[in-house]
Amino acid sequence: MKLIDGKAISTEIKNELKEKAAALKAAGVNVTLAVIQVGNNPASTVYVNNKKKGCEYIGIGSLSYELPEETTQQELLDLIGELNERADVNGILVQLPLPSHIDEDKVIQAISPAKDVDGFHPQSVGALCIGQPGFVSCTPAGIIQLLKRSGVEMAGKECVILGRSNIVGKPMSLLMLRENATVTVAHSRTANLKEVTSRADILIVAVGKPKMVTADYVKEGAVVIDVGINRDENGKLCGDVDFDDVAPKCSAITPVPGGVGPMTIAMLLYNCLASVEG
Ligand code: NDP
Repeated sequence: MKLIDGKAISTEIKNELKEKAAALKAAGVNVTLAVIQVGNNPASTVYVNNKKKGCEYIGIGSLSYELPEETTQQELLDLIGELNERADVNGILVQLPLPSHIDEDKVIQAISPAKDVDGFHPQSVGALCIGQPGFVSCTPAGIIQLLKRSGVEMAGKECVILGRSNIVGKPMSLLMLRENATVTVAHSRTANLKEVTSRADILIVAVGKPKMVTADYVKEGAVVIDVGINRDENGKLCGDVDFDDVAPKCSAITPVPGGVGPMTIAMLLYNCLASVEG
């Protein structure tokens, strides 16, 4: 069994991006990401700080907007409008979730697709669907990099994705299709779930249920990618896959933490540089 090391692969990508950022700088191109947080959800603060640190690491600029919880939707939309117009801002990221009085869809749609480094704008999602260039949502894009850089063949393989969210499952299915895998998307209404997941050469799990996937969901020799970030009964970080039970059956598997998680920020930084490269 091979452990797919997301920490090492994300560092490899960030070091490549560092070189690219330096080359852009030398050519007089400065890249800046604007990060907006509304309210002070502690998990969001951790994510936002990691994103800013990531920018620093690869040598691009970041602008930080920490807005109070009571910020109105219009105030947020006005700020996005301003940042859309600013030539010195290349990417705009609004940390989700937003307070309940703000409509997330409206906010996502207000970001210019040219600066939509999270890849959540309907235009970005539509472009992915019909195979046109555009920003790809960071977690699924990171999983493709994990697979490629671990030498996992995708073309012609049976890939089952467990979960169909807009952020992970759906874009993941489109990316695996682009890599010529044969794709099945399973969800909470799928009948005979274990039979379906046991067909997978590559099983990607994004359900948000701690350790739900046990060895009886998995084919001998499968590659298993665990997207989940949960706390177990002892408060310890764990995935959606029961690692100890499943790992002996796999040819390769991602751990939690240290698997998919670190890839998300690496791909956000990748998208920031792509925003100036066209
Ligand atoms: P959502 O809650 O939006 O989606 C979960 C999906 O799993 C839904 O499609 C749901 O089906 C399906 N599902 C839930 N329970 C079952 C079940 N018992 N059997 C089969 N399918 C089920 O979650 P996300 O996609 O946003 O996130 C999934 C996990 O990934 C979470 O743990 C999250 O924290 C983590 N995550 C990690 C990231 C990273 O950077 N590593 C980034 C984003 C998320 P249905 O549609 O039918 O309800």
